[in-house]
Amino acid sequence: MNHYQAAIIGFGKAGKTLAAALGRAGWRVAIVEKSKTMYGGTCINIGCIPTKALVHDAQAATDFTEAAQRKASVVEFLREKNYLNLASLETVDVIDGQAEFLDPHTLKITSGEAIRTLSADRIFINTGAEARFPQIEGLIAGPRIVDSTGTLNLSSLPERLGILGGGYIGVEFASMFARFGSKVTLFETASQFLAREDSDISAAVATILQDQGVTIELNAAVHAVTSSSEGVTLHTPQGDRQMDLLLVATGRHPATGALKLENAGVLTDARGAIQVDKRLKTSTDHIWAMGDVTGGPQFTYVSLDDYRIVYDQLLGKGTRTTDDRLNIPYSVFMTPTLSRIGLTEAQAREQGKNIQVVSLPVAAIPRARVINDTRGMLKAVVDNDTQQILGVSLLAADSHEVINIVKTVMDAGLPYTVLRDQIFTHPTMSESLNDLFALVK
Ligand SMILES: Cc1cc2nc3c(=O)[nH]c(=O)nc-3n(C[C@H](O)[C@H](O)[C@H](O)COP(=O)(O)OP(=O)(O)OC[C@H]3O[C@@H](n4cnc5c(N)ncnc54)[C@H](O)[C@@H]3O)c2cc1C
Repeated sequence: MNHYQAAIIGFGKAGKTLAAALGRAGWRVAIVEKSKTMYGGTCINIGCIPTKALVHDAQAATDFTEAAQRKASVVEFLREKNYLNLASLETVDVIDGQAEFLDPHTLKITSGEAIRTLSADRIFINTGAEARFPQIEGLIAGPRIVDSTGTLNLSSLPERLGILGGGYIGVEFASMFARFGSKVTLFETASQFLAREDSDISAAVATILQDQGVTIELNAAVHAVTSSSEGVTLHTPQGDRQMDLLLVATGRHPATGALKLENAGVLTDARGAIQVDKRLKTSTDHIWAMGDVTGGPQFTYVSLDDYRIVYDQLLGKGTRTTDDRLNIPYSVFMTPTLSRIGLTEAQAREQGKNIQVVSLPVAAIPRARVINDTRGMLKAVVDNDTQQILGVSLLAADSHEVINIVKTVMDAGLPYTVLRDQIFTHPTMSESLNDLFALVK
């Protein structure tokens, strides 16, 4: 049996970055990945990169088949690069197979018929998350019922695409496939989709999607699904809906099922997420968990920050914790992009803050005229007592870049006047922050 100083389960963002850093520091490291098509993890293979490559090509009105081919080559290139980044290090062994705990220091690794074991002083779990299907009669993955990964693997465009779930992944795919030319219907069980956003933002998103030809069914009580080689039918109290393909985008849950965590004394919560402290240590002293598997915000940059926290304990000052992250922004890559940070107006009111809310239509931004995309709105919530920015929603072209400026100002504890009075280049979307915050009285 091989012994390592560090064993990492899962080739995700945190895991691969930690493997490289420890390997370069001279540690003997094993990184275990269950699928040869997943070197580099979810983001590269079935998440951020393939979706955004398709979004980009959908915006450029590229034919879907061509876009799917380009996406596949981008993914292949990055997967290979990620593999070689680690495999080229003498100190790091990339091991193919599914890992499970035999005891707190020992892993069993199964790859087809082959089984091996390894032990390690320290173990890091980075197994990510998996799509979760709700309990609906007949809703079983198959050729006509797929998750986001199945949808990304399509080589031809579905004529009628149903999407179950009006969250971020659902909205992103709805926008993208509508631009490619599918007839998209989005089914959301709640009365508002993008439930975490303010209702005016969600309504503005709905208008944009509808203008792109997306049908949105709110309060959709899909009680059964039947599929055949011809298509898939969603049964609702309002009648049956026929689709060629159904994308189930109702959330992703932590991938802990196969790990046999009980053999290592690692505790999970009710959702199966691994319980960790602020330094990402699990209930077992020499075992850490990083990324989506901890049940935290499911973003690549959060997983990367998890790596930073763990690395800091192993080879740094040991001071970094999850509290240091402050505000976590995010973007939904519909067209135009929706980006948000901090509190919504509704959350700020619930917390009893003394606030001012300002908003600016994108049509008022010179850059929007230049690029010929005047859709959307910007909205900010400012604390009257402290002059701090509490939250911002940007539904606008390039908002995924602009939101990072807002984060920097918010995290630095600077007042909104910094963005109001800052010199920004022209004509850019960033300069719209001058105009948005000039509306605060
Ligand atoms: C469609 C989609 C779009 C997304 N878009 C974005 C985006 O635009 N921006 C963004 O920041 N985030 C996005 N995300 C989320 C982002 O991809 C994840 O938050 C991020 O990849 C999490 O990485 P991780 O470090 O938790 O592990 P992952 O990258 O998920 O890696 C986990 C790895 O562990 C392996 N594994 C699992 N169990 C075992 C086992 N028992 N043994 C061995 N190996 C195992 C898996 O095969 C996988 O390779 C998107 C996700 C999806 C699904």
